[in-house]
Amino acid sequence: MNYQDDIPLAKRIRSIKTLTTKSFLRLGLLFVGLGISMTFLAEKSLLRQTKSLDDSMNSTEISQDKSLLGHLPYPEASKNELILFSPGIYIHREIYENFKEMQFMAAQRGVSLQLLSGFRSIDLQRDIFYENKSIRNQTAVERSMVSAPPGYSEHSTGYAIDIGDANYPDTHFEVEFEQTPAFKWMRRYAPKYHFVLSFPPNNKQGVNYEPWHWRFEGTVNALRKFEAANKITKFK
Ligand SMILES: [Zn+2]
Repeated sequence: MNYQDDIPLAKRIRSIKTLTTKSFLRLGLLFVGLGISMTFLAEKSLLRQTKSLDDSMNSTEISQDKSLLGHLPYPEASKNELILFSPGIYIHREIYENFKEMQFMAAQRGVSLQLLSGFRSIDLQRDIFYENKSIRNQTAVERSMVSAPPGYSEHSTGYAIDIGDANYPDTHFEVEFEQTPAFKWMRRYAPKYHFVLSFPPNNKQGVNYEPWHWRFEGTVNALRKFEAANKITKFK
């Protein structure tokens, strides 16, 4: 005998109805819940896809769109951002005091830091890049290992300097500069004055090692200029 037979028909129907309504309600809630989680998951994966798309676009920008033969584009400093440091050599106003102080402190230890070059206009960079190329009979790719194409030199910003040891002029613009007291002093103390070596050995930009070439990162303005270069160093 079935248990439900004891209950009057009307009640039985009501109970069946209630049961059905409850089941539908539960089923409905389940679907809604499922729907919400699905939407959430879908959004999450969409977000992830968008993010990775962003990342890949960023790295593409750096590696393909922006850089040229390993060099990054740099704007030219305006005249009023520059200051004459020594005959024929302009540098960015923001590095003047730091460089002066660094040079003074090095001199206290008998080390003679000589400023070999600072700001270079894009026009001058064009001459250097193409003239040297024809003199040395090099292709643009070979030349780019040692010199930046016009519009792609850190020197255009006024924040990059080439340093030599005044007591060892034969090592100017040579890798041998790394053996001089000037380089050894720079390697140890330059960070204190916010100068960093732009192209250390085996740098990720693929530019030849240049122990004489340092850039200033001591202001937000300067840091912003080298944001792309630092991204390559950090993430590539
Ligand atoms: Zn340089």
